[in-house]
Amino acid sequence: MTKFAMPDELKSVALTTKGFMPEEEGDALFDAACSAADRFPGANFVEIGSYCGRSTVWLGAAARLSGLAVYAVDHHGGSEENQPGWEWHDESLVDPSTHRIDTLPHFLATIDRAHLGDVVRPIVDESSAVAARWQEPIGLIFIDGGHGREVARRDWESWSPLLDERSTLVIHDVFEDERLGGRAPFEEIYQPAIAKGLVEVSRTGSLRVLQFG
Ligand code: SAH
Ligand code: MG
Repeated sequence: MTKFAMPDELKSVALTTKGFMPEEEGDALFDAACSAADRFPGANFVEIGSYCGRSTVWLGAAARLSGLAVYAVDHHGGSEENQPGWEWHDESLVDPSTHRIDTLPHFLATIDRAHLGDVVRPIVDESSAVAARWQEPIGLIFIDGGHGREVARRDWESWSPLLDERSTLVIHDVFEDERLGGRAPFEEIYQPAIAKGLVEVSRTGSLRVLQFG
């Protein structure tokens, strides 16, 4: 148990937003963020892969209660698996004028609906490009971007050097068993994190919370 609970109004915004974050895992993300704020006071949160803002609402709620901000990083063009013809494609996210996926308007509408505009700072760019110019301490990083092998590896390679001993790392879609899902987050992010000295402190569904031991 953490000292804060996810506010009901924000929970209902999260649960009515398109996305890939089950309720139980969102609640675990919220708890991890509240604990991260205690572990590394004053250090903000970073989210890689916001999509329509579903997970961002749990992180934003924790940030608001902790007096912090969330940087929500996404190029908003969708991952490989969100493109037309792939398993996780949603036609309603295609911009009719460009015929390309554009989740940014949906994301902004979610943040507006949640009244989290003062704590969520959208960064519309490629994850590793954002990492390359990053300057701030990271209290928590939630990695839920592209799940292709190269993209996941690049996320780990670009963000891991920016972690502090007090940072919390949360990874989504970690499947040790390949029958349950793709292995890239497990092999390209989770395992390298363990090799770097991070220790798993909790797991809920496919969500893993790690800290330096
Ligand atoms: N966290 C979301 C789901 C994220 S889906 C939820 O809770 O529902 C993955 C997102 O990562 C997509 O929106 C995609 O556009 C984004 N993404 C994938 N690769 C990226 C990259 N290299 N840089 C920035 N965003 C990326
Ligand atoms: Mg995910």
